Amino acid sequence: MSSSPVSRAISRELTWVALSLSVFLLFAWLTGFWVSTLFSYVIFYLIRQVWCLYRFEAWMREVPYATPPQSGFWQELCFSVSHKQRMLEKRADLQNNKSEQFHAASMALPIAIISLTKNHKIEWFNNAAQSLLSIQRSDTGRKLETLVRQPEFIQYLKQEIPEKPLFLEGFMGQSRTYRCEIFDYHHGHRLLMLEDVHELYNLAQIRKDFVANASHELRTPLTVVNGYLEMMIDMTEQVPEFWEKPLGQMHHQSLRMQAIIEDLLTLSRIESDTLMSSSQVIKVDEMLNNIEVDFRYLYDEEYEIFFSIENGLALKGVEEPLKSVFTNLISNAFRYTPKGGRVSVRWYSDASGAHFEVEDTGIGVPNEFLSRLTERFYRVDTARSRENGGTGLGLAIVKHVLDKHESELKIQSQVGKGSIFRCDFQVAKTMVSETS
Ligand code: ADP
Repeated sequence: MSSSPVSRAISRELTWVALSLSVFLLFAWLTGFWVSTLFSYVIFYLIRQVWCLYRFEAWMREVPYATPPQSGFWQELCFSVSHKQRMLEKRADLQNNKSEQFHAASMALPIAIISLTKNHKIEWFNNAAQSLLSIQRSDTGRKLETLVRQPEFIQYLKQEIPEKPLFLEGFMGQSRTYRCEIFDYHHGHRLLMLEDVHELYNLAQIRKDFVANASHELRTPLTVVNGYLEMMIDMTEQVPEFWEKPLGQMHHQSLRMQAIIEDLLTLSRIESDTLMSSSQVIKVDEMLNNIEVDFRYLYDEEYEIFFSIENGLALKGVEEPLKSVFTNLISNAFRYTPKGGRVSVRWYSDASGAHFEVEDTGIGVPNEFLSRLTERFYRVDTARSRENGGTGLGLAIVKHVLDKHESELKIQSQVGKGSIFRCDFQVAKTMVSETS
């Protein structure tokens, strides 16, 4: 069994003391100078310790030709120190190796990566960033804004912690689309990533264009079919009785198709980036008062309806899409609440911003479906949605419009008890308007 370094050091020191002392004692026995010999031994022992300490210190400082002391516990101490040193060197080698590997991997990444200081000064970048932004090693320490002058990019760079990625079309004069993201990664240092997503972006664009074009193309023929169906339904004398029911059903279905096409076109309009360019101050209180009148007209006899609207509370946004958010949520509340239920609508503000809330005592939504409600054509109960004239696109429209207004939809629901759908608008989007 190997002994511990301390016990080895003590035994070495004792051996050394025993050997050296026996020489001195032999001398004292021969000469009879016991006291002076023992005194000399103590002095000798102290001088040796100081000398060993001096050599140890020189060896530690790596003075040329300095050798470690090789006797007593000093020998063990030097052995332990050099062993520890070797271990540390090995570990440092390993770490160096790993960081070299990591460095090489990030250099080889096809995504452009740039490490920036808090003030956007370039610290480090990989090969992809070098070729995309045409930056050189000598640009290290320069502000990135001085090298990339695209205004939207600079705007994005100046944000504290951007929540969403930025898509840059025609970045640095290239006919490609890049996805730009910035992360805080270490004490305020920031990592900028630029990824070429041209193919994906193009595909998404093609899909959006296709849906918009197809909906647009279908709109006119469907209006014609609908018109003829309405005409035929009105011609009660000329049309045989047998056709009344099929005609009614055809009319109902074509109206449903029309509603879906209208919703698809609304979604395409919302998705187009030009939407927010017509942003203005919307007097939401007035808008909701008008909406209240419409809904009361339709449902006042069948439901308990409450509207609580904060006067003068306005929003910065786009009128039509916002109106469709409010009407979609209120209309859903009625459609998914059995007659006799209660629907409450609130428009209010607090320290966190403005809130539009619709609460109903309806059928509710099981928890596991909540996260999927805003997907296109997602319905918890497809048959029920169709029955009550749903297109499956209402909440998708709500989500897109809210995204464009940097707002969020929060849903709470309990099956059989009811739901609360709430839109939270940031303080920056909220304002007070003069009440008329
Ligand atoms: P739909 O036209 O089918 O109502 P939406 O996009 O408006 O489409 O809503 C998606 C689904 O969310 C609905 O099919 C329904 O299952 C559920 N839902 C929406 N609002 C409510 C509500 N107030 N109460 C219960 N379920 C709701």
